[in-house]
Amino acid sequence: MPRATATATKPSGPARPAESANPFAIAQRQIDEAAARLGLDAPLAELLRWPQVEMHFTLPVSLDDGSVRVFHGFRVQHNHARGPAKGGLRWHPAETIDTVRALAAWMTWKTAIMDLPLGGGKGGVICDPKQLSDGEKERLARAEMRAMARIVGDHQDVPAPDVYTDPRIMAWMMDEFEVIRGRHEPGVITGKPLTVGGSLGRDDATSRGGVYAVREAVRELGPRANGLRYAVQGFGNAGSFVSHLHRAILGGGTLVAVSDTHGGAYNPKGIDPRAAAEQKRKTGSVTGTPNTEPISNPDLLELPVDVLYPAAMEGVITGRNASRVKAKVVCELANGPTTPDADLILHDKGVFVLPDILANGGGVTVSYFEQVQNSANYAWSLEDVHQRLDQRITNAFQAMQATARREKVHPRLAAYLVALERVGEACVARGWVKRLRPKK
Ligand code: NAD
Repeated sequence: MPRATATATKPSGPARPAESANPFAIAQRQIDEAAARLGLDAPLAELLRWPQVEMHFTLPVSLDDGSVRVFHGFRVQHNHARGPAKGGLRWHPAETIDTVRALAAWMTWKTAIMDLPLGGGKGGVICDPKQLSDGEKERLARAEMRAMARIVGDHQDVPAPDVYTDPRIMAWMMDEFEVIRGRHEPGVITGKPLTVGGSLGRDDATSRGGVYAVREAVRELGPRANGLRYAVQGFGNAGSFVSHLHRAILGGGTLVAVSDTHGGAYNPKGIDPRAAAEQKRKTGSVTGTPNTEPISNPDLLELPVDVLYPAAMEGVITGRNASRVKAKVVCELANGPTTPDADLILHDKGVFVLPDILANGGGVTVSYFEQVQNSANYAWSLEDVHQRLDQRITNAFQAMQATARREKVHPRLAAYLVALERVGEACVARGWVKRLRPKK
């Protein structure tokens, strides 16, 4: 397979000056640290630092008022040594190429630690979906798929939902792709509605996988799993499901705070996740949920809870606030919520950080199950999906912990050591580079 199939340019490097604020600089710092620890050969370490393929596109879209607006977007394939690139499509006003590069790299490590035969990809469009009508969203989705069609496909690169994209958008994109190809190819995209080839269990897979990982971490730490106090930042797909799945899977627990872009709701005696969901449905925000008081997003991160679920955006736990985090376990449902500086502080404080590449790996795992079902044209039962997901998360957790103990490193670095070694071995096997480690 060619190493670069579309516009592949060596990126000129991080655009923003402060390393800790730039997700791609953070992603590269994490790679450098793991590569140095593994003693990787220099060409391999350099290869792993950069996306293999980047596509930048402009999307002219007709708006409802008759005007045309040009949107800008990207699709990045970080590494496809282990299989087709896989990763979500994010529609966000603050999207940048560096964010997409970072998210694509994190997908490479995520598919590797979950031991899926996939690589890492990610896409994004700079837009504010809250300002778009349904018709405008459909035209944008179809335009994005037309732009990406040359580099996606079930054997090339398989997109999925991410922030502000959903199953309906995936169905429009699949339809557009099938019109272009002139045949059914549901495996081009995952996170689809069930009626057009989606998988049972994909909707809550990210959160479910996160709770399975918390269950394993709590076993290691000792406290009973059924009485934990927890807080959730971000009440979207990942955050809303985890708010009730935590209690359902662990046999109890007290949700003390939830939040979204507008702010948060707090009650130390407990919040009913259904009341928060109802408030969000009625008003567009969890703020003002009955029997709660307001709390800001930064304050929510510092609450005295057992488990903190950051489930919104990257870079929220930094060197500035990490020392005030009181949770025993941080389960990173969001991608990249903790900066490397914060990682060290949390590790010194004895906080068990379940790293994003494992903690939210349930989403891509069930997306992979969706691809497998699509290629066999056969649907699995929900029990099958849950049991296979649990096995994958538990195996990944054990691989991470075995490395953490052996190398005496924090869980994220351990997960990276496992993932980089797996991807490195595939790069060597393909002949892209000569060796994993320098000759002695
Ligand atoms: P979503 O769009 O469904 O929800 C995002 C939520 O975060 C919304 O409630 C929004 O109000 C809130 N939010 C946005 N910016 C915020 C901020 N600055 N402060 C507080 N809240 C904020 O998105 P999602 O799919 O739930 O994804 C959330 C995170 O989880 C992202 O980092 C995403 O990459 C990651 N993730 C999601 C999946 C998945 O399957 N959905 C899989 C893996 C990782």
